[in-house]
Amino acid sequence: MLQKDPITSVKGIGDKTATLYHKMNIYTIHDLIVHYPRDYEQWHDIVAIGELKAGQVHAIRAMVISAPAVLHVRKNMSVTTVRVRDHSGTCDIVYFNMPYVKNSLQTGKQYIFRGHVLLKNNRMTIEQPKILSPQEFAQNVNRLTPIYPTTKGLTIAAITKSMRTAIDSLSLKEDYLPEAVRTQYDLVDFHTALCGIHFPDSKETMLTSRKRLVFEEFLFFIVSVLVLKEMTAREINNAPMMRIDACADLIARLPYKLTNAQKKVWSQIEEDMCSTHVMNRLIQGDVGSGKTIVAILAMFLCIMNHRQAAFMAPTEVLAKQHYETVTKIAEEHGLPFKPVLLTGSLTAREKRRTKESIVLGTCNIIIGTQALIQEDVDFYDLGLVITDEQHRFGVKQREKLAQKGLQPHILVMSATPIPRTLALILYGDLDISVMDELPANRLPIKNCVVNTDYRKKAYEFIAKEVAKGRQVYVICPMVEANEEFLGDQPVLENVVEYTQKLRERLPDTITVEYLHGQMKPKAKNFIMEEFAAHHIDVLVSTTVIEVGINVPNATVMLVENAERFGLAQLHQLRGRVGRGKEQSYCIFISTSSQNDTLERLQVLNKSNDGFFISSEDMRLRGPGDLFGIRQSGQFQFHIGDIYQDAAILQEAQSCAMELYTTYIDHQRQPIEAHKAFWEHYEEITTFNMDFINI
Ligand code: ADP
Ligand code: MG
Repeated sequence: MLQKDPITSVKGIGDKTATLYHKMNIYTIHDLIVHYPRDYEQWHDIVAIGELKAGQVHAIRAMVISAPAVLHVRKNMSVTTVRVRDHSGTCDIVYFNMPYVKNSLQTGKQYIFRGHVLLKNNRMTIEQPKILSPQEFAQNVNRLTPIYPTTKGLTIAAITKSMRTAIDSLSLKEDYLPEAVRTQYDLVDFHTALCGIHFPDSKETMLTSRKRLVFEEFLFFIVSVLVLKEMTAREINNAPMMRIDACADLIARLPYKLTNAQKKVWSQIEEDMCSTHVMNRLIQGDVGSGKTIVAILAMFLCIMNHRQAAFMAPTEVLAKQHYETVTKIAEEHGLPFKPVLLTGSLTAREKRRTKESIVLGTCNIIIGTQALIQEDVDFYDLGLVITDEQHRFGVKQREKLAQKGLQPHILVMSATPIPRTLALILYGDLDISVMDELPANRLPIKNCVVNTDYRKKAYEFIAKEVAKGRQVYVICPMVEANEEFLGDQPVLENVVEYTQKLRERLPDTITVEYLHGQMKPKAKNFIMEEFAAHHIDVLVSTTVIEVGINVPNATVMLVENAERFGLAQLHQLRGRVGRGKEQSYCIFISTSSQNDTLERLQVLNKSNDGFFISSEDMRLRGPGDLFGIRQSGQFQFHIGDIYQDAAILQEAQSCAMELYTTYIDHQRQPIEAHKAFWEHYEEITTFNMDFINI
């Protein structure tokens, strides 16, 4: 079995189960094995009943001292209670709707029970514990059991089982990281790493495994950046554009003055586009720094030079929003823009027409999702491609454009400010412009970091803001309740149940809806549009709203389980509010009372500067605190976290340089020891397009 095979080639995954995996974007074996645990559960040793603590998960070894009593409370509800004893005391064991469990429990016999402890009627009670044989317990104790992100209908146990099967039957050729590299950077081999990340026997194994996987993920990425850099360095622009006075006129007529940062970046872009090389530029700007108008100026320059400009957004909603902004500004200022919107939800007929106008050149601004470039779209004369947020061009996309005979200027806009050292590695193929200034008229967002006791007050505050006509975002880390019992994990709030809870807690007049990444694109669009049109007051969402959406009337953001997110990501999320003239607020609710977590979150309280926040994220998180923190959606690494793993990123950078230089020095032929590496590079950049998009 190979990494590129479909998941249905794993024994036990049929077509039906496969569709569940597809929901999580898992199609190939490769996708499956990089579906890393989001956390681990650790089984601790057996404790005495006298030491049980409510709220924890414990295992006890105890004797059944009363025959199980089954009580039918309601028609569809039974409660089975058993009293058990060890040398230190007694407690109760309770099962719901499992009357048959009494058959497996004999009075006078000892069992191991493991489950959630609570205090009920003043007695220690364990609810729904697993009943384990001494062997079963011994197998799991002190090990880390993986907790996978999952979706409804697919249990963690099922994923674990398939993962085992997949890893065991994967035909692994020799390790593609050269031995010398593994020695130099102290990395375990691939198979060890794979087993060690999914089924670690200790925290140390997990850490060393993780290091190898993070390293290689960064390494392949950086190599692709180096390849790109070399490709683009040679690109000569035979037809430089002409400067246009109308751009300056437009700037003068805008209802606001450009910030100095906007002016600086605009002049860099203008210079690039009118020079004899092809532009490959990144604008790094904090949320709200006003990147869109700069993009519009670039498009204006392009179309005034009689070429087409494409503007790609990561989501349809965002594409539509850009389309509206562009149309509006064109109308207001009488600009010769002829924009079209090309997205997946057009009808076949509309699509055909739009594509026709693109190839005939009757439109000059084409706005859409990434499909713009990937699908069978032909351009009349494409002069500029702008990608907003999330996406950037990888090798493959550029090859595709080149095959169409195009060599457009490329402008990438990123709203995730990162420290310069990291930017130089991750965006090494691009020239970097920094927009580190917010328009002066902004009211800073008011923030607070609180614990869950504050919820009641927070809901009152939300109700008050809604009564004033404002809208609210609520962010939860999970999509839906996990059917599975997650043992000693703290509760992670989920979008579906939280929405229900808010509907009950908030006044009836307030409409609460939800949004998450597992919804169909159409449903997502619908909800976003309803929210933008203010038919929804409170939107409960996962981090899918992180990217660029602009609803200036939203003034409150409440983030549940804030401790689970990276600072840079929280800052990004926070950028969804504070976009209008009203005062905005951000409430970060943390379930953790640990000092380092609170210190980390306080950074958001102290600063609204994305560059500062991301460098603090890097400083405050090291390889020690591992799982549990959500990474930013913008850098879609499966396992690596650019902040936490900044040191590994630097190492991967030097390694990538070495490998690449050797390759170039040998007339672009891999030397024997690097053959497997380059073969694998080819393989993943071919079947895994995702890999090159960050
Ligand atoms: P982002 O950089 O996050 O993409 P946008 O381009 O969406 O930010 O800009 C956010 C808002 O700020 C928009 O409503 C835009 O019209 C406004 N804006 C942009 N530049 C300025 C400026 N120099 N002064 C005042 N408002 C501005
Ligand atoms: Mg934007």
